[in-house]
Amino acid sequence: MATWETALIDRRGLDDLVLALRDDGRRVVGPTVRESAVVLGDLESGADLPDGWGVVTAPGEYRLARRDDGAVFSHSAGPMSWKSFVHPPRQVLWSERGGTFSVPEPEEPRFAFLGVRGCDLAAIRTLGSVLGADPGGYTARILADLVVVAVNCIEPGGVCFCASMGTGPGVGGRYDLALTERIDDRGHRFVVDAGTETGARLLARIPHTAATRADADEACAAVDDARGRMGRAMPDVDLRALLRAARDEPVWDDVADRCLTCGNCTMVCPTCFCTSAEDVSELGGEGTERQQRWASCFELDYSHLHGGNARTSGAARYRQWMTHKLGTWFDQFGSSGCVGCGRCIDWCPVGIDITAEAARLTGALPAIDPEDRGPEP
Ligand code: SF4
Ligand code: SF4
Repeated sequence: MATWETALIDRRGLDDLVLALRDDGRRVVGPTVRESAVVLGDLESGADLPDGWGVVTAPGEYRLARRDDGAVFSHSAGPMSWKSFVHPPRQVLWSERGGTFSVPEPEEPRFAFLGVRGCDLAAIRTLGSVLGADPGGYTARILADLVVVAVNCIEPGGVCFCASMGTGPGVGGRYDLALTERIDDRGHRFVVDAGTETGARLLARIPHTAATRADADEACAAVDDARGRMGRAMPDVDLRALLRAARDEPVWDDVADRCLTCGNCTMVCPTCFCTSAEDVSELGGEGTERQQRWASCFELDYSHLHGGNARTSGAARYRQWMTHKLGTWFDQFGSSGCVGCGRCIDWCPVGIDITAEAARLTGALPAIDPEDRGPEP
């Protein structure tokens, strides 16, 4: 990635960056603590960032943990992803009131996303390739005027496997600015790379000093170190071929014994994009809206085709989801549908782990012990 400048900013510089983006009329979204999780929300100022919060993650487990170093970005992926903003959970397609139909123009904020990790930047690109083909569509219009302040990850979580998916822990692809957080006896600072002219202009507006070669090397070393501390890894095999050959594997029945078909994995996944449409009427009957909403391939109704259901069992639905993520997504969109963020693992109520199920398909892991099926739902 071409860089215009590498600089250092301190913690107050981060506050200045939020204000500079807001001064440009942008809606700044980034990590913040709400309802016992690090979620993505509007940042009125840098004070909304999750200073001193980390997370503990494991299959079926996510909880906040206090840190004493004041780190801002030492939390791995939370329950929300940037999908909520580029492909909103609900959108009104049309409405009817008093016999008059109208198609509302959705509000289109000029977003700045602050704190985007490598896995999530890859997920935004993936959503762009799936949903952004129509330049007049909502996703394309949002992405066309998006400022990205990315974050190189130096503290992977217990369920992260971005390194094995080639999406992290360092950010790749297009970003405007990329931050690497450093905290040591030299203080709390961020090594900042400008990746675009927009980023360079932003950087010029906030107090900074030039980074030395040693600063940049040390930031790279921290990211390299994170690569070696991933919580897990996807098996290093041809996943398309693995899934194509796995149609009749007993693994699917084994997963189905545990899977609640709740759809949590698809809701938290930053690339799952399926939707359904439903009509929502006001109680008094004065008006109706047709709404597009996120849907899940784990919903029974979702695979209802031509008067019958194509995937009646949990085994068939899990197989469909995993086969699409890791296999047929390549055929449709030319990339993996999984970026290795780990969300589907920690937010699965029974701790089903896509990397472990893939390892079972390769034969590298034995079938799960029925006495050890993770936390009780
Ligand atoms: S989150 Fe877990 S239990 Fe729910 S549908 Fe996904 S794999 Fe099944
Ligand atoms: S399948 Fe799981 S690990 Fe992969 S991108 Fe979706 S939520 Fe993240």
